[in-house]
Amino acid sequence: MGMNVAIDGPAGAGKSTIAKEVAKELGYIYVDTGAMYRAIALYLIRNGVKAEENELISEKCKEADVTIEYVDGKQVVFLNGEDVNGFIRTEEVGSMASSSSTNQDVRKRLLGLQRELAEKNDVIMDGRDIGTNILPNAQAKIYLTASIEVRAKRRYDELVAKGMECDYEEIKKEIAIRDERDMNREIAPLRQAKDAVLLDSSELSVEEVKERMIQIIKSKIEK
Ligand code: C5P
Repeated sequence: MGMNVAIDGPAGAGKSTIAKEVAKELGYIYVDTGAMYRAIALYLIRNGVKAEENELISEKCKEADVTIEYVDGKQVVFLNGEDVNGFIRTEEVGSMASSSSTNQDVRKRLLGLQRELAEKNDVIMDGRDIGTNILPNAQAKIYLTASIEVRAKRRYDELVAKGMECDYEEIKKEIAIRDERDMNREIAPLRQAKDAVLLDSSELSVEEVKERMIQIIKSKIEK
């Protein structure tokens, strides 16, 4: 087994921004599991499947072959051989990923791929159920969170910076819906693993969170 670091937490806590940088600093591979759920969601949307069609999701997801490659250290997600990195970051795909990830067959499809990456490489893997379910034996586990107001504000600023029009209250409402779904689903809900270190980024800068995360990881792997 490689060195495995599991980072879980709710949407907008800054997991991917920070984990990417920490991975670079430690020389690990950064695995964004949300992107895998998004790739399956994209396949479902393209095939006209609706979020509430659970049985159809179970059936259709079997046709979605998701693979990962690393190009210049960046994770590229392939859906049936097509690079879909440019299509998976929309709100529509995020929302479908949040719904379809409650489906057992969708989760089963990605479990093997995630474990295999962690088996073969030193990884920092981020998601919702990495420390609790995918990599229960990870050497370091961090639960990264922030208040819903801070997470909504970050998302709002991100969209405004991209020149998009958006409404703070609307974003906050959507994040609350996603939290509720991720934390209360039957299979692999978002939870802090018993042996995970809690890191609240509400009052911290990216640089500060990054430093704390590196400290936590080093303290765990040097034991
Ligand atoms: O992290 P990101 O927003 O890209 O993830 C999209 C959705 O995929 C999340 O809302 C969550 O429902 C789902 N997901 C999951 N398990 C993971 C990673 C993401 O259920 N390990």
